[in-house]
Amino acid sequence: MKYDVVIGCEVHVQLATKSKMFCSCPNKFGGEPNTRVCPVCLGLPGSLPVPNSAALEMAVKAGLALGCSIAPITKFDRKNYMYPDLPKAYQISQYDIPIAVDGKLSVRTGEGEREVRIIRAHLEEDAGKNVHALGADGRSGVDYNRAGTPLLEIVSEPDLRSPAEAAAYVASIREIVRALDVSDGNMEEGSLRCDANINLWVYEGGVKHATPIVELKNMNSFKSIRQALEYEVERQADEWREARLTMEKGSKRTRGWNEERGVTVLLRVKEEEADYRYFPEPDIRPIALDREYVEGLRSSLAELPEARRERYRKLGISAQDAEGLAASSVLAFYFESVVEEQADAKKAASWIMGEVRKYLNEKGLADEDYPVKAPALARLLALIEQGTISNTQAKVVLVAMADSGKSADDIVREQGLAQISGEAALLEFVEKALIENPDSAANYRAGKEKALGHLMGQVMKLSRGKANPQEVEKLLKKRLSE
Ligand SMILES: [Zn+2]
Repeated sequence: MKYDVVIGCEVHVQLATKSKMFCSCPNKFGGEPNTRVCPVCLGLPGSLPVPNSAALEMAVKAGLALGCSIAPITKFDRKNYMYPDLPKAYQISQYDIPIAVDGKLSVRTGEGEREVRIIRAHLEEDAGKNVHALGADGRSGVDYNRAGTPLLEIVSEPDLRSPAEAAAYVASIREIVRALDVSDGNMEEGSLRCDANINLWVYEGGVKHATPIVELKNMNSFKSIRQALEYEVERQADEWREARLTMEKGSKRTRGWNEERGVTVLLRVKEEEADYRYFPEPDIRPIALDREYVEGLRSSLAELPEARRERYRKLGISAQDAEGLAASSVLAFYFESVVEEQADAKKAASWIMGEVRKYLNEKGLADEDYPVKAPALARLLALIEQGTISNTQAKVVLVAMADSGKSADDIVREQGLAQISGEAALLEFVEKALIENPDSAANYRAGKEKALGHLMGQVMKLSRGKANPQEVEKLLKKRLSE
């Protein structure tokens, strides 16, 4: 059976504004149920929504970063449906004039690069949350704290061709909104959510058949995005083999991912657009986004991860380190500060992605809480460069610096770690090793290169590991060739 997988994504990003989309209630995750609510986000009669200008600004920034055109005039519409978590029985969204349209995003996966067209990005308000199995009698309730949280919905064309590509696409969006500081992109808390539309193009008898589209919901992690889509590919292939179902009007279904059972389950027949009876929101006037405003935001955009990666690669940093640094704006800033202190970029990158990250993981610290300041790390790297301490010693010193807050110089002095270097200081050990190991010396002179390793080991032992190995090697070779 020959087929292509066809996936399009709808990504919902909660914007990190201080207040909600249309009222001044705090926009914060969690909290005692129904404590962050007011007449506007509860949809009480007579209340009036006022659009949040910070949310508009964030939406424009995200739209620009996704290569979209920004609408000169945008407006809000009512999307009507009844559900307990939606107190007004409509959601304020954007229908025919979204804030941003026609963008594109390049997504890199192990299999290569994929250009994904972005159809639109529009602003809307989040719904509340239904909570089930409360108390001893298992009641259900609704928490409206989330109602009215600003959401940016980013809709892609069905340009993704595998579950791995879809996961990489969502990861790219998350990276961008984090770099722009418009969302924390936290999938566990629902700040970033993805629904995916998936079907197969089956090629049989020289004809392309499209299977019915399924909209997949409830994918709360990158792992579940991949697993749910992989499951759905197999399920749709089986369905084609058994029933030869093809896409037609009204055949779209919504299925939810059940993480525990590892299956997708049918939720409902998908509503058609007409079911929502969209109409312009009469309480909010259309909003003009003039050129000056948009261009001002464009010029203030933070450097995007892809551009940063490219710049780092040009500094000669390994692709893996560049990738890791670009993914965290905190570590990227730290790296650049270390390099500003005259540290070698390649070495600084590998220390940060290696030892610094290892320390953060072991202590369970956030990137911004790493205790060693940039100039202190740069000084440590300089001590290695000068040959004062070895690379191995420096790793121990860095941990001690992070634990104690002391400088590299203090720790090296206190622990007596400084390497012994310089011909005058090393010659004593070298001579002693040559006298005590005449056979190794003779073997080396007879062409057995391996014998040098033994002599090196002896010198290190005599110096209690403090001799500078590069200098010892040079000195030994010099003495043996005389
Ligand atoms: Zn409110």
